[in-house]
Amino acid sequence: MTDAGGDADRIASLRDLLERANRAYYVDAEPIMSDLDFDTRLRELESLEADHPELADPDSPTRRVGGEPVSGFESATHAVPMTSIDNTYSVEDLQAWHERILKGLGDLADPGVGLVCDPKIDGVAISLRYEAGRLVSATTRGDGTSGDVITGNVRAIRSIPVRLATETPPAVVEIRGEIVMPNASFERVNKEREAVGEPLFANARNSTAGTLKSLDPKVTASRGLRFIAHGRGETVGFDVETYSGFLAQVRSWGVPANVHSKAFTSIEQVVDRVDSFRDERSDLEYGVDGMVVRVDRFDLQSSLGATAKAPRWAIAFKYPAEQATTSLLEVEWQVGKGGTLTPRATMEPVHVAGTTVRHATLHNIEEIRRKDLRIGDRVVIEKAGEIIPQVVSAITEARSGDERAIEAPLTCPACEGGVEQEGPKLFCTSAECPAQFRERLKWFVGRDQMDVDGLGEKLVDQLVDAGLVHHFADLFRLERDQLLELDRMGEKSADNLLAGLEVARSRGLSRVLAGMGIRHIGASAAKVLARGFPDAEALMEASVETLEELPDFGEITARSLHEHLASESTRDAFRRLREAGVSLQSDLHRDPLESPAVSGSPFAGKTVVITGTFEAFGRKELAERLESLGATVTGSVSKKTDLLVAGEKAGGKLKKAAELGIETWDEPRLLATLSEAG
Ligand SMILES: [Zn+2]
Repeated sequence: MTDAGGDADRIASLRDLLERANRAYYVDAEPIMSDLDFDTRLRELESLEADHPELADPDSPTRRVGGEPVSGFESATHAVPMTSIDNTYSVEDLQAWHERILKGLGDLADPGVGLVCDPKIDGVAISLRYEAGRLVSATTRGDGTSGDVITGNVRAIRSIPVRLATETPPAVVEIRGEIVMPNASFERVNKEREAVGEPLFANARNSTAGTLKSLDPKVTASRGLRFIAHGRGETVGFDVETYSGFLAQVRSWGVPANVHSKAFTSIEQVVDRVDSFRDERSDLEYGVDGMVVRVDRFDLQSSLGATAKAPRWAIAFKYPAEQATTSLLEVEWQVGKGGTLTPRATMEPVHVAGTTVRHATLHNIEEIRRKDLRIGDRVVIEKAGEIIPQVVSAITEARSGDERAIEAPLTCPACEGGVEQEGPKLFCTSAECPAQFRERLKWFVGRDQMDVDGLGEKLVDQLVDAGLVHHFADLFRLERDQLLELDRMGEKSADNLLAGLEVARSRGLSRVLAGMGIRHIGASAAKVLARGFPDAEALMEASVETLEELPDFGEITARSLHEHLASESTRDAFRRLREAGVSLQSDLHRDPLESPAVSGSPFAGKTVVITGTFEAFGRKELAERLESLGATVTGSVSKKTDLLVAGEKAGGKLKKAAELGIETWDEPRLLATLSEAG
C-alpha cells in the first residue's frame, strides 16, 4: 500500500517545485535544476498522479500537453483591440515623435515625460487572459480586433505560467506579449525541414507562427518557444500607474517580461540606448529588429490617444538590415518530398550579423529571373531580423562578362526524370525518383499514416540505400535474412520491424490513402474517402462529380484526385500493395441505409460540423458518437454542411453557419436528441 497522505504531500511539493523551476529558468534566467532533473521529477509526478486520479489538477505541470490535436481554431474578439505600432528607421523621426507628444500633452508634460525602451522582438503577438489567476485563453493578434484562440498550444509552452504565482490575483488581467522561437530552436527546426525536403522557414517569426498554428500541442511543446510580455489588455480589479510598474508586477507573478526593458527621462538617453543596443542585440538568444519607445504613464498614454492606425504614445525604431557583399559560386537544385526542386546558392563565405554565411535559398526560378542573378555575380546579401540570409540583388556594374545564367534544370538532378513547372515552382515528375521516394516512404510509414512500428527514418534510409525498397509494397516483402544483413540490425530489431509491418498490412484504406502523398489528400480527406467507398477499386471508378459531392471536397481537390487515381503509377502502386497482401478495404465505409444501428438515426447521412466546448463530451468523443450514428463529421462549415453543433465559446463557424442558413444546435438540444436516439 502506498501512503496516500505522503503521496499527496509529495505531489503538491513536486508541482510547486516544477513551477518554481520554470520561473527560475524563464523569468529570472537563473536555473535551479538541470533539464535532466526537471524531466526526472516530472516523470515521478506523472506516475504519482496516475496512482491518485483523485488528486488530478488540470493545471499540473504534467498536464500542459494534455490537449488532443484540434481540427481548427476558433476565433474570438479582443476585449481591448491589439493595435500595432508605427515604425521608423530614422533618429530624426524618433525626435520628431518626441516633440509631438510633448506638444500633445502640453502642461501634462511638466516636469517631464518618462519613456521606456523595449527591444522589439520579431515574434507572434498574443494576448493571455488570466481570470482569478488562471490562464483561461490565449488569442493571437489576428487583425487586431479578433484573432485565433490557441489556448491548447500556448499551455504547452513552458515559459508561460498556467497559474499566476500570487495568492491575490486580480479578477481579470490580459497580458500581451510576443511568442518567439530562440535562434537555436529555429536552426534546429530548419535543419529538420531541410532533411525531409520541406521548404525552410525564412525567419524565426514564420517558424513560430507555423508552430503555433500546428493543430497538435505536442509539436508546440517540442519547439522551446518563449513568451515576453510587453503590454496589457483588459484588466479588472487591478491597477498600476505605469507600464514599467506593470512589467514589474507581471514578472513577480512569474510571467517573463523583457529584461532589457529600461526607463529614461530624456529623448537623448533614448537615442543613446537605441544606438548602443544595435550591437548588444546579436548576443541575445532570439532576434531583435528594433526598439519600441513608449510613454511610461498610462494616464498620459490615454490623453495622447490613437490615430486610426496606431497609438500616438509609442513608436518603433527599426534597425536597418545588415548587408554584405560576396560572390555567388554555384546553384544546386534540391529535391523535396513532393518532388519540388528548390535552388540553393553556395557563396564565398562572408561574415554578416554575427554568423558566417555560405548558403542561401533562392526560393524558385522566377525569383532568380526577377533578380537577374547569374553564377559568378557579386551579390548583396542581407540579414534583417532573419537568421536565414537572403540574396537581395546582383551588383550588375561589377560584371566582367564571364558570368553564367542560372538555368532551370531540364531533368531532375536526383533521377534524371522529367521536370515540369507549376506556377513559379519546378517539380520532378518521375514516380520513381529516389530522392522523392525516400521522403515519401518516411511519410508513408509515419505515425499518422501506416504507423509501422520499429521503422524510423534512419532505417528507411538504410533500406533505400541497400536497394531493398523501390516501392511502398516492397516493404511488405522484406525478409528476415535481408534485414539481418543491414548494418547494426540485430535479431530483435528485425523481428520488431516484421511484426510492425504485419500490423500495418491491415490498417486499411484510409491509412494507405493518407500515406501515399497524394496532393490535397491528408489524413482527414483520406478518412472522408474511406467512408465514401468500400475499397480502392470502387474509389478508382468514381467520377469527378461523385468525388466533388464528398464532404469537404471542392472542385480542385476532386479534379486533382481524379487525375491522380487515373494515372498508371497510382494504379500500379495499388496493384503492388494488393499483391503484397496490404488491405485496400475500408472499415470506415458504411452504407447508412443498410446499417441497423444507424437506420432511423436523426444523424444518418448528415454532414455535421462540431465547434466550441461541451460540458458533457470532449470534441473527439462527440465526433465518434455522431459518426457511430451515421453522421459524417467534417472540419469546416460549407454549403454541404447539414448541421452545426455549437458548444460554449463558438466563434467563426457559428457566424458562418448563420450566414449560410445552416441548422445549428446547442448542447441541450444535442443532448435531448442523443437521449432519444439512445
Ligand atoms: Zn527526380
